[in-house]
Amino acid sequence: MSVNYLPVNREDMESRGWDQVDFVLVSGDAYVDHPSFGPAIISRVLEDAGYKVGIIPQPDWKMTEEFQRLGRPRLGFLVSAGNMDSMVNHYSVNKKIREKDSYSPGCKMGLRPDRATIVYCNKIREAYKNVPIIIGGVEASLRRFAHYDYWSDTVRKSILIDSSADLLVYGMAEKQIVEIAAYLNDGLEVKYIRHIPGTCYIADSLEGVSSGYIEIPSFKKTAEDKTKYAEAFKVQYQEQDPVRGKTIVQQHGIKYLVQNKPEMPLSQAELDKVYGLSYLKDAHPMYERDGGIPALEEVKFSIVSSRGCFGSCAFCSLTFHQGRIVQSRSEESILHEAVEITNLEDFKGYIHDVGGPTANFRRPACLKQLKTGACKEKQCLHPSPCKSLHIDHQEYLGILRKLRKLPKVKKVFVRSGIRYDYIMADKSEHFFKELLEHHVSGQLKVAPEHISPKVLHDMRKPAGKTFEQFREKFFKINERLGKKQFIVPYFMSSHPGSTLEAAVELGEYLRDIHYQPEQVQDFYPTPGTLSTAMFYTGLDPLTMQKVYVPKSKTEKAMQRALLQFREPKKYALVHAALVEADRTDLIGFGPKCLIRPRGKTAYSDQNKEQDSGYKQNKQKNSVKSKLNKEQVNKDLLSKGRINKEHKKKIAEDSGKSRETVKNEKMRKEKHQGSRTEASGKATGKVKRMSPGKPSGKVKGKHSF
Ligand code: SF4
Repeated sequence: MSVNYLPVNREDMESRGWDQVDFVLVSGDAYVDHPSFGPAIISRVLEDAGYKVGIIPQPDWKMTEEFQRLGRPRLGFLVSAGNMDSMVNHYSVNKKIREKDSYSPGCKMGLRPDRATIVYCNKIREAYKNVPIIIGGVEASLRRFAHYDYWSDTVRKSILIDSSADLLVYGMAEKQIVEIAAYLNDGLEVKYIRHIPGTCYIADSLEGVSSGYIEIPSFKKTAEDKTKYAEAFKVQYQEQDPVRGKTIVQQHGIKYLVQNKPEMPLSQAELDKVYGLSYLKDAHPMYERDGGIPALEEVKFSIVSSRGCFGSCAFCSLTFHQGRIVQSRSEESILHEAVEITNLEDFKGYIHDVGGPTANFRRPACLKQLKTGACKEKQCLHPSPCKSLHIDHQEYLGILRKLRKLPKVKKVFVRSGIRYDYIMADKSEHFFKELLEHHVSGQLKVAPEHISPKVLHDMRKPAGKTFEQFREKFFKINERLGKKQFIVPYFMSSHPGSTLEAAVELGEYLRDIHYQPEQVQDFYPTPGTLSTAMFYTGLDPLTMQKVYVPKSKTEKAMQRALLQFREPKKYALVHAALVEADRTDLIGFGPKCLIRPRGKTAYSDQNKEQDSGYKQNKQKNSVKSKLNKEQVNKDLLSKGRINKEHKKKIAEDSGKSRETVKNEKMRKEKHQGSRTEASGKATGKVKRMSPGKPSGKVKGKHSF
């Protein structure tokens, strides 16, 4: 027991002299008192506002008594699934159970239920009748409307309906939660708290809903008609603005979900205050015997410097959670936290990160965003930087310079994602140069995600040529600095819009830059993203244009394999993909070929030759490339021998029976101009991309 942590049991309460808490916060994550964890922020904000808060982290959801551990709270229960959606936390994009949960002690799985928010609320209702329940966090926030649920492959009702909670707070929620607490404390019944921005509630009728609301297609209509779903999503997306956003209502049976407009972002002073609260910056000692909480290790020596993102990548849900208006902490606040970090016992001299959703966004995209809201029909960076966009890295650079001069600091890294198109739009090179000189640990992770213009458009990502210009500048600056550093680019397969032809295009690009990722990030249709809406509806909700969506296991496996065409175990899939895409010109011995015909060159030899670079093999290739292409294709496809092998291999790779694969329709349509995509994170090892051949392995993660 530690008196400094908020109470987690009766003994903790007694040691504080409390016989009742005001709020009980139930969380799907272990209790970590660090501002990178949402429940820690909310509990400390309420404590700062004068409320008594207790925490029930990861209760056994089969036992009602677990929810009675701290007694009935005076004002209500707060429920969060944790820092991640519980389904994303539990399952990979292939819907297989993950091996680890880094938000649980010792990475142990199974300490929270599927759909944790709903399960916890039901249990609380069993434990206490008529106690106010307020839900929040990423899971509640991104499932606040009727939404497509990838794991059940259905449209589900708003989580507020399914959980029977009284209120839903969306976004970062500090302002909302303090306001709700004040009303409850004043004796107002929760059913009358209806007007707070950044909240949703259920109404019996539209009477009393503030005027000027927009009604979107109902749950029933969105579940039955994909076009209606896309229409509803477009309104949700475009009204996600605290300045000009309107109230949205959506009928669910005989009731209505009402979403008030988003809460205004915190001012710099407010944000400084939130991050300056008395966090212990550690996991509760009760987890020590199990090895602590691994998710803390990634953030313990990192500083959150900003919130919000105007990048608007289609596969990222951040727009729906933190919004487009960037908010940042002051230099003083950041430096103060840095000094605290340097005084931690286990600080080794390295600040691991100073960033946010996008490290190099430190201020709103333009002044207009604060006065009249972010543009409804226009993106700040896509397809190219807006003319009104304020581009300046000076303030961020100034903070980094001061941080690296602090006593005990050996190095300050920037590991949050950076937007390279924003860097390229900056006329000054100072930031890029100092980033590479001082804040990169040998490799810089960036996320071009794809190279096909159509796919990039559907992703709302910058054009491929911008990435090329960035690479060129990266290597030039490193040359000037006398440093040998590498770019680690992240690419995504099977995003909506990605046809097999587009995946081949990406494979060819990777061939040309001599880069092969060891693991590829497959699009993951997580709740609340534009890409997920494309995945479900086959439409781009913002344009209502059709979007091609790769969905079959076989096609997804082929798209993924094309990004790793040098791997021997992917050979059959790559071959099948090239045949399917009518690109057998890429099967052969020429320098541009992705794979060679089997039987002409031993597998291991072939791979070795490719990995050692094209130059060395030029002579060999020039002889072999004399083979007539048609003859090679004929060889490959003759007598069904090769196809048979491929199908067997595909069956193994995609976990399907041979018969299933045989019968599977092999994409007869010719992928006419379609595109879509999704999100997720890559955690695997990747080879570095250097000016020369790929070498070495590094661990990385995808960041928004
Ligand atoms: S004017 Fe440009 S920078 Fe400002 S919100 Fe609109 S698109 Fe973004």
